[in-house]
Amino acid sequence: RDAAFDVAVIGAGAAGMMCAAVAGQRGRRVVLIDHARRLAEKIRISGGGRCNFTNRDAGPANFISGNPHFCRSALSRYTPRDFLALVARHRIAWHEKHRGQLFCDESSEDIIRMLRAECDAGGVAWRMPCTVESVERGDAGFMLRTSSGAIGAERVVIATGGLPVAQIGASDFGLRIARQFGLKIVEPRPALVPLTFDAASWQPFVPLAGVALEVDIRTGSGRGAASFREDLLFTHRGLSGPAVLQISSYWQPGEPIVIDLAPDVDLVADLLAAKAGGRQHLANVLAGMVPRRLAEQWLAAAHPGLGEQRIADLPDKALRQVAEGMKRWTLTPSGTEGYRKAEVMRGGVDTRGLDQQTMEAKAVPGLHFIGEVVDVTGWLGGYNFQWAWASGVACGQAV
Ligand code: FAD
Repeated sequence: RDAAFDVAVIGAGAAGMMCAAVAGQRGRRVVLIDHARRLAEKIRISGGGRCNFTNRDAGPANFISGNPHFCRSALSRYTPRDFLALVARHRIAWHEKHRGQLFCDESSEDIIRMLRAECDAGGVAWRMPCTVESVERGDAGFMLRTSSGAIGAERVVIATGGLPVAQIGASDFGLRIARQFGLKIVEPRPALVPLTFDAASWQPFVPLAGVALEVDIRTGSGRGAASFREDLLFTHRGLSGPAVLQISSYWQPGEPIVIDLAPDVDLVADLLAAKAGGRQHLANVLAGMVPRRLAEQWLAAAHPGLGEQRIADLPDKALRQVAEGMKRWTLTPSGTEGYRKAEVMRGGVDTRGLDQQTMEAKAVPGLHFIGEVVDVTGWLGGYNFQWAWASGVACGQAV
């Protein structure tokens, strides 16, 4: 079944469907190719099944990239409001959860159906499941060898996403094609991912597994510095929760992270004040200032024996040490939970080789890259989908 199209989009996920729909509705003859059996699994499982499809406040500052200005153009030309207008046209009910994060009321299936309908409106042809064996450049564009026959296309859009969660179809296809055509790659790494610690050093904190609380978290210094106020979750192997997922995207191997376990509390002053005439045990006093399980288990882990002593009997120096230890808990992760647990990949196709208006490779006319395979990584909270939509639209308007 040999066929010829204006545009072949490889990867029918968030960015690929958006791009195909926009290009198709402009009258381009588009084919959308995906190797998965089920459509858009990442959208389906996203946001706990409700798809945090954008963030009301998304802007360039919410993205990490070796070339931070690259994402500006696409993000400003297709905004969260534009996506909300599309969602409204398809009568999808949504709500805001937390800090501008917008979710479907019902199910992420609504978003998948919407994108399918938009592709249908553009007359997009489908090849799925279909494996792309090779992409070669010829005189009049590109030739794809696939499990559904040869496909000729003037332009090829790579929208195969990042490396996380191979079980549902992630692959390194996009990075391989980039390398084949001589594009540079910013080293890919798991991001928005729980952090782990070596078993021996984490042992004292294992009893804290399940404790969750709001913290300030930071890492890096100078231009590489980042900080967030979000919820932290202790796990058996290390740390998770939004605070740690956010900071994981900035964390460099070998570097420490610093956590304030009692933000907004002047723990030194409060403990010293509680000491005057205090008959209570230190653990009980501390439990009035931070969650009780944290107070008890933290003291047991970091200062064995101290929690059971009366606060009045403890020297100021010991109280200061406890307080400062909780305000500036400094620890060096041994690694991350990896691509199996990561929500996103940081790094990818180096944007210095791409045109910011069209997502086209500067050195390879007709070859475009969009979505997560590109070195633009959003924070947790709907930003990664906003990049998928915005880069998809920018490319769809150009091809
Ligand atoms: P994808 O949506 O991953 O689409 C890539 C497509 O390419 C897939 O359909 C895949 O089958 C196909 N493909 C891959 N390799 C090949 C190949 N060799 N040949 C043919 N096809 C191929 N982001 C948010 O903004 N909000 C959220 O709520 C959110 N929740 C998430 C939850 C989880 C568990 C995970 C893992 C991620 C979540 N993300 C979320 C991130 C978001 O899903 C991705 O950033 C986004 O889907 C990227 O869009 P994309 O189109 O680039 O890639």
